[in-house]
Amino acid sequence: MKRPPLNRRLAEFGTTIFAEMSALAVRTGSINLGQGFPDTDGPEEIREAAVRALRDGRGNQYPPGPGVPELRTAITEHQRRRYGLVYDPDTEVLVTAGATEAIAASLLALVEPGDEVIALEPYYDSHAACVAMAGGTRVPVTLRPEGGRFVLDLDELRAAVTDRTRLILLNTPHNPTGTVLTRDELAAVAALAVERDLLVVTDEVYEHLVFDGAEHLPIAAFPGMRERTVTISSAGKTFSFTGWKVGWVTAAPDLTTAVRSAKQYLTYVSAGPFQYAVAEALRLPEAYFDGLRADLRAKRDLLGDGLARAGFEVYRPSGTYFVTADIRPLGEDDGIAFCRALPERCGVVAIPTAVFYDHREQGAPFVRFAFCKRTEVLADAVQRLTAVG
Ligand code: GLN
Repeated sequence: MKRPPLNRRLAEFGTTIFAEMSALAVRTGSINLGQGFPDTDGPEEIREAAVRALRDGRGNQYPPGPGVPELRTAITEHQRRRYGLVYDPDTEVLVTAGATEAIAASLLALVEPGDEVIALEPYYDSHAACVAMAGGTRVPVTLRPEGGRFVLDLDELRAAVTDRTRLILLNTPHNPTGTVLTRDELAAVAALAVERDLLVVTDEVYEHLVFDGAEHLPIAAFPGMRERTVTISSAGKTFSFTGWKVGWVTAAPDLTTAVRSAKQYLTYVSAGPFQYAVAEALRLPEAYFDGLRADLRAKRDLLGDGLARAGFEVYRPSGTYFVTADIRPLGEDDGIAFCRALPERCGVVAIPTAVFYDHREQGAPFVRFAFCKRTEVLADAVQRLTAVG
């Protein structure tokens, strides 16, 4: 008996590129600059806070659906202190199993079959998969390299809006390009959302990883946006505990309720003891956040300079812990083939960004390297990469 296709909505999404490339790194013993996770854990006192919560029996049974009150309060304090955004911890915050679940729940809650969702291309893989799971249609708007950065074309964005557009899915600082949307760009996106009455779901998990004076601005703070924006962030990137999977949503009460209605049937709740630890992490002194940025900035430059010396054209990111490189100066133009061969050639793994494009040809020559690794690991990788130049 021949079965009909098993899962049409997800047919185009096989194994994630991150899992595939991490497995390739393990198999070939390569340095893994593919999947973005730090190779050292976050602050010791935060790890201890999780141990304490576990031992004290806090969070070992189902935590409350919206998240433990301590964490919800810490999230609202963080949003107010940093961005002047005031949220009610009881009605406008939802703790999720990482930003990934927050994205899934937001899209499942807010997108009806047939709705169009505008996404910045290259788009993070789970954004595309969740639009598909919700039965929506993704409409990519391409960020184009210009003056050393990947730039959003606001006219193209405007032209992408139709009567079927339900929401704009933003991501700033942007994975994989490292673009941090500017005040003017965000103001234009906000004005468009208000004019066309669109919702905005914004993935801001790299909010603290910005460099060289770039400023992360949440679009929820722009005029008319608070009531139409679902803001998503998480602890993984900011505190270097990607395995804890603690994320959150801040949004107006009706949006939060809608997202929670989907979330409760996904994981229901998760990460009880870790939620207490993340509440403490969000209250770390400013020196922690400054130190994280300074460390990553130095690593960005170490890797970026090394890639440039090896002959790549390097796009130095203003945010995130990823650097995008163009392989054409090396005489290559197929990033997917390049990344598949790289472990054999020099023992390094990277991510081909073409897989995050509908317009594959636009992304073909770009590859992404993660620099959230120990300095000696990056130095070793740079050394190895000079062999491909
Ligand atoms: N956010 C990580 C990255 O972009 C990957 C997370 C995952 O593997 N799903 O590399």
